Formats: sequence, C-alpha cells, structure tokens
Amino acid sequence: MAERSSDLIVQRPEGLYCPAGDFYIDPWRPVARAVITHAHADHARRGHGAYLATAISEGVLRARLGHITLQGLAYGETVLLNGVQVSLHPAGHVLGSAQVRVAHKGQVWVASGDYFCSGHESDANTTCAPFEPVRCDCFITESTFGLPIYRWRPQAEVMADINTWWRTNAEAGRASLLLGYSFGKAQRLLAGVDPGIGPIVVHDAIAPLNAAYRAAGVQLPVTQPVAALADRALRQRALVLAPPAVRGSAWVRQLGDCSDAFASGWMQLRGGRRRQGLDRGFALSDHADWPGLQRAITATGASRVIVTHGEEAVMVRWLRQQGLRAESFSTEYGSGDDSGA
Ligand SMILES: [Zn+2]
Ligand SMILES: [Zn+2]
Repeated sequence: MAERSSDLIVQRPEGLYCPAGDFYIDPWRPVARAVITHAHADHARRGHGAYLATAISEGVLRARLGHITLQGLAYGETVLLNGVQVSLHPAGHVLGSAQVRVAHKGQVWVASGDYFCSGHESDANTTCAPFEPVRCDCFITESTFGLPIYRWRPQAEVMADINTWWRTNAEAGRASLLLGYSFGKAQRLLAGVDPGIGPIVVHDAIAPLNAAYRAAGVQLPVTQPVAALADRALRQRALVLAPPAVRGSAWVRQLGDCSDAFASGWMQLRGGRRRQGLDRGFALSDHADWPGLQRAITATGASRVIVTHGEEAVMVRWLRQQGLRAESFSTEYGSGDDSGA
C-alpha cells in the first residue's frame, strides 16, 4: 500500500514503523528502538538496541532473549517517544501481551499484535489480563484464524473434554501426552485441567515459563519435572505437557504406553488431527476466532483497518463489505513453532 505522510504506522523492511515517533513495533530485523507486543518468538526478536514492553512480560522476555535493555510499562501507562504518546493495553493472548496505542496530532492508531478476544460473552483467557478494546481511528489486526470456519467452543467445554480424555487414560493405566506451545498455551492448559485426576509432569521447555507466570501471580497447579516419570505408577496416571516439537522423538518413548493429543486452533480443521497421526485434537487457541476478530474490530470503532498475518485477503474483503477502509501489511509474523496458535 502507498505510505501517506499522515499515517502513524507504516510498513518498512524491518517491521511496522512509526515515522513520527521513530520506533518500530515487533520488528523482525534489528532496529534501534522496538516496542514489543508480547514474547512469542515471531514478535520478540533479539538484536534491538532498546526494548519497550509491559513490565509484567519482563520475566518471559528475559527468559527468552537473555540480556536486553528493557523499559517496562504498566498497562495504560503513557510514555512519550519523540513527542508521540505510546501506551500498552491488554491483548488477552499470553502473559504480558499488549496492544500498542499510538497517539499523535489528534490521531489514534492501535497495533494489536496477537490477541484473544472470544466470540462468546465473558470467555477470556484466565492466565493473563483479558483483551480490552481501545477506541482508535486505525486498528492494525492479525487474522491468524480469519476464516468463517474458525469458531471456538467456550473454553470450559474444551477443558472438560481434555479432562475426560485424561481421566479415561489414567483409568486404563496409560500416560496422557498433551502437546501445546510452551509459552501461553501450556499455562492455559495447566490452569484449566483438573489436578485431582493425577500427577502433572511438564517438559523442561515449559518449566521456566511456568515459573515466570507464577512469579507474576498466576495460579497454576503443582507440576513435576520429567524425572518423575521414572516412577511407573506415577507415569501411568500422569498428564504430560510438552511442546509439539517432541513428537516422534526418543523423549516420547520414555512415556511407554500413552495417548497423544494436540491443543491448538488448527485442530478445528477437519483432518488436521488425522494428518498428524494423533489420537486427539483439541481446538483451543490463544488467538481470536472469526467471531472474536469481528467483535474486537467492531469494538474499536475504527474506520480504517490494516490486516497483518493470517487470512489477510478474506478479512480485508469482509472489512470492505462493512464499509470500512481496509488494506493489509505483509509481515514476518506467524512463522515457526512458537507463534502460539
Ligand atoms: Zn503470539
Ligand atoms: Zn503472531
């Protein structure tokens, strides 16, 4: 799209850029000043000079990026960058995730990063601050699940299915291997399962993120390290939480007889589970579904919407049908195993 001089945020080869404030939002190439929406690997990368993010995401950012120059903001707190007002507002996606509100010369733009806004009333991600709509002139939205086929069931129903699957396995004396992305999804699953069914074991990739969540005050059930699996009786009743990358590895073989399942929005696709050869697929996502995206966009009151990663074309067409001005940016988000779908 053509860059107009009054646009508060434009696309550059390095990432989304605010010319008036001279900063980038979730850049994918190294820049001097980066505002980071959340700590997933496709949004928070190494190599920037200075980072600005929510204070509550500091633990996860440092766990993933090591030593960085980081300024932490409370939700709703405003800072001035080159005279441009910048504030961060809850996105409901993962711990510390934020939408970036940028205000300058009477214009307000919001870049939302990744967000979870449910299509169901009062169905929020309980492991982080829920999505808060921010009024703006232009809203920059993701569209990971921006197709009408994506409609999440209420989370409590999905969690009940997961608990039933786990209980059935435990009664049959086999482990339940539940795959989910280490940051965000794993903690959401932990917060939703019934620890009364049996012991919960977490993969080493998940444990440090659990620690960051607990340090931030998020309640998670007691979990055990992988070494606990040496106990056969424990293993046979255990729920084992691991990232999807462990599939087919020697790591899985230590579980012995087990049932495997994957919790992801992609599991809503018919055939998705079968293609991956899994016993079960649970459609649970940290991203908004089609009704959730529509609800979020409508709530901003924006007359202009820019669509980033996902199903851009379908979403842009729908937005134009609503009478909104809509276009897309091409970004490098949504790539890799750690995008939290
Ligand atoms: Zn994300
Ligand atoms: Zn993303």
